[in-house]
Amino acid sequence: MPVAVPDGLVPLDNILPDEPLLMMGAGPVPIPHRVAQANSIVINHLGDTMNQVIEQVKTMSRYVFQTRTSRILGVAGPGSAAMEMAVVNIVRPGMKVLAICNGFFSNRLAEMAERVSADVVRKNVPDGQTADPQRVRELIETHRPEVLTLVQGETSNTVLNRHLPEIAKIARERDCLVIVDAVCTLSTMPFSMDDWCVDAVITGGQKGLASIPGVSLVAFSERAWDHITAQQERLRHWCLDAVLANNFWNEKSYHYTAPVSGVLALHEALRLICRETLELRFERHLRCSTALQSGIESMGLELYTRPEARLNSVIGINVPEGVESRRLLAHMSKVHRVEISGSFGLNIVRIGQMGEQSRSHHIFRTLHALGASLFALGVNVDIPAGVAALESTLDAYIFDGSG
Ligand SMILES: *Cc1c(COP(=O)(O)O)cnc(C)c1O
Repeated sequence: MPVAVPDGLVPLDNILPDEPLLMMGAGPVPIPHRVAQANSIVINHLGDTMNQVIEQVKTMSRYVFQTRTSRILGVAGPGSAAMEMAVVNIVRPGMKVLAICNGFFSNRLAEMAERVSADVVRKNVPDGQTADPQRVRELIETHRPEVLTLVQGETSNTVLNRHLPEIAKIARERDCLVIVDAVCTLSTMPFSMDDWCVDAVITGGQKGLASIPGVSLVAFSERAWDHITAQQERLRHWCLDAVLANNFWNEKSYHYTAPVSGVLALHEALRLICRETLELRFERHLRCSTALQSGIESMGLELYTRPEARLNSVIGINVPEGVESRRLLAHMSKVHRVEISGSFGLNIVRIGQMGEQSRSHHIFRTLHALGASLFALGVNVDIPAGVAALESTLDAYIFDGSG
C-alpha cells in the first residue's frame, strides 16, 4: 500500500503567530534583518564565491575569537556538534580528562569525553559558584590530565567562570590542552583565545553571535592541531573529523556540502560584529544586562546567582512562591508576545542578553511583560519601580560616557 498524500496540510502562515514572538530566552535569539536576508540565499558550496565567503568568515572569526590560528573550522550542526568536534578530535580513548562541571552544558562536555572512552574526572563546582583556580591547580597536580574542559558561561544556571584565564594558564603550564565552550558568551563579553592559552573554542550560531541555529564554529590552536594530526588511529567519526573538515575550510576542496545559506548568515552576523567592534559590543551587552538585572530586582524579584559568579549573557530569576513557571512563560508568550526560557530542573526562568536581545527597546518590553504577567498571576510586583531602575541604569551608562 503506497502512503497517500497527508490530509490537512496548511501553509506556514497558518502555523506561525500573526506577529512573531520576541525571542528573549536562552537561545535562539532574534537575528538582524540582514542576517535573515543572507540566510535566504543558496549558492554553490564550492567555487570562487564560496571560497571568498569562507576566507572572510575565518578572518572575521579570528577577530571575534581573538586568535591568529589558521585552524578555524565550521560545522553543519548545533553548538553541541561543535562541542563534539572539539572533544572527539582532541580526546582519544584512555586519555585522562579533567572536566570542570558547573551545570548542564559542562557536564555534556564531560559526557562526550566519556563516550570516546576517555578516563574522565568530573569536578563538580557547587551550584551557583565559579570554578576556583587554586582548586583546579590541585586537581591538575593530582590527576595530571592531558585535557581540561570547561564552559565560560554556564547557560543552564547562569554562572560565569570568571577565572577562566587563570585556569587556562595553569593548565598550559602543565601541558594540558584546554577546551572551552563559549557558545553563549562569545562576542557578548571579553574572550581572548591566544592570550588566555585556550586550545579549542566552541561556539554556536544562535546565541552570542546572533545568527541562525545549525552552523557552528570551532577554533583549534596550532598546538591542538599538532596534537590532532599526530594521532595514528583513524577517527571513528566521519562528519566531525577535523582533518577532513580542514579540506573544506582551508584547502578549498570537498568534505560535505556546506550549509551554504547558514554560512552566508554567519558571514553577515560576523560582519555586523566587526562593524560594531568588540569593545562597543561588550559595552552594549554589559549596559543592557546590568540595567535589566537592576529592573528585575527593583520590581521585587530575586536573581538566582550572586553577583560574584553571575553571568550577564543569561539572567536567571527565582520564580516567586505560588507561581508555576510554565504558566508564567505561557502568559508572557500569549498576552505579551515575549518568549523567555524555563530551566533544566532549577526553579528559575531565564532571560537572554545575547546579540539583538541586548537592545533597550527589547529589554523594556521584556521587563514589562515579565512584571505584568506575574501581576496577572497574583504576585505583588512593583512594575513602575522596575521600569524606573531600568531607565536610570541605562542612563547612568550614557552619563558615564561608557555606553
Ligand atoms: C546552548 C548551549 C550549548 C548547546 O548548543 P546547541 O546549539 O543547543 O547544541 C552548549 N553550551 C552552552 C554554554 C550553551 O549555552
